[in-house]
Amino acid sequence: MHDGCSGAGSDATAMLQKVRMMGFSGMPLPVAVDIPCTNCDHTFSMATFESACPECGMVYAVTPCSANDPSKIRPAGIGA
Ligand SMILES: [Zn+2]
Ligand SMILES: [Zn+2]
Repeated sequence: MHDGCSGAGSDATAMLQKVRMMGFSGMPLPVAVDIPCTNCDHTFSMATFESACPECGMVYAVTPCSANDPSKIRPAGIGA
C-alpha cells in the first residue's frame, strides 16, 4: 500500500493529485487498458497512471493499488 491509495475513492481530483504526489503520473500501468472516454466516447489506450483522452483532453487517473481494476479509473476533468 502507498500513503494516499487508500481512501482515494470518490474524489477524482484528489485522487489525481495523490497519483501525481506519489510520482506515478508518467509511470506505465502493469497492463494498458482501453477505456471509452466518458466525455466524448472516443476509446483510447490508457498506458500510464495518468492519461488524457487524445480527442478531448479529459484527464484520467488510477492509483497504483487499483491499477489492475479498470473500474477504478476516474475522469478528473478536462485540463485537470
Ligand atoms: Zn498503493
Ligand atoms: Zn474524450
